[in-house]
Amino acid sequence: MSSSSNSGSADSEYEHFSEKNVSEQDKITRFLFDKANIRGEIANLNKVWQSMQTNHNYPDIIRNYLGEVVAASVLLSATLKFEGSMTIQASGDGALTLMVVECRNDFGVRGVAKYEEVLPEEADLKSLLGDGNLVITIEQAKTRERYQGIVALEGNSIAEFLEGYLIRSEQLETRIFLASDDKAVGGLLLQQLPGQSDDEDSWDRITHLGSTIKQEELLGLDTKEILHRLYHEEDIRLFDPAAIYFKCTCSREKVTNMLRSISHQEASDIIKEQGNISVDCEFCGKEYQFDEIDIAGIFTEHSQTSDPSIRH
Ligand SMILES: [Zn+2]
Repeated sequence: MSSSSNSGSADSEYEHFSEKNVSEQDKITRFLFDKANIRGEIANLNKVWQSMQTNHNYPDIIRNYLGEVVAASVLLSATLKFEGSMTIQASGDGALTLMVVECRNDFGVRGVAKYEEVLPEEADLKSLLGDGNLVITIEQAKTRERYQGIVALEGNSIAEFLEGYLIRSEQLETRIFLASDDKAVGGLLLQQLPGQSDDEDSWDRITHLGSTIKQEELLGLDTKEILHRLYHEEDIRLFDPAAIYFKCTCSREKVTNMLRSISHQEASDIIKEQGNISVDCEFCGKEYQFDEIDIAGIFTEHSQTSDPSIRH
């Protein structure tokens, strides 16, 4: 196994870690089976995953499925070639109404699940979500250009949903293995690259070995240890890991814009009843308060700026 870098010097890598104050455990590592034309990634989140659960008292089953979406979201965001974000959203008519996770190209991630108070007993993912869709949205930060893909929820695991999406919408043969508990989430992704391989059986062999990975290995073992256990007989080129961190993109400005979607009258009525308007970010729990003067300002400004391009 050799190691090469595609992400700058050791110094800049260190800055990346210290700047965002992340645990070295929260990381994603890319690798290549050069001869087989297959790429892979392993992601592991600990502290980041634990902080994503702050302010949420998720039932175990919901937490674990959300954790799998978080791991998958980090794995898929590694393919973003520009400054931007990828959002995975699974929603249906079941008791688990929504799971949404956003991950940026630099692996800043946030996510939330919404569910009904009473969950069916012994439910699996399909029965929790019901009939619904998987929506993947890729947004370029600078141009705000958006690409959106939607598929029906087919299969009974987060990995199956995403494998189905990737083959149907992007014709990419992909295998994804995910694990999640209260402390950690982990994921392994294997993807066939376009072009011929001299090693014809490689995809079957490498994905079969991948399928032998155990949940506890994905959650607890270091990346190099996982790769050694699965692929010590394969030629692998391993890249430097990148740090994953918790990033909520909420802001007072965004909440202000959201408030503009209700009428001035409605806003004033809430102020009259409650003294102020308080909006909690559902991702990070941050509270945004608006008093009477703020609200008056928001709606006066709004009537002056009628330019519809001013949106956030
Ligand atoms: Zn937030």
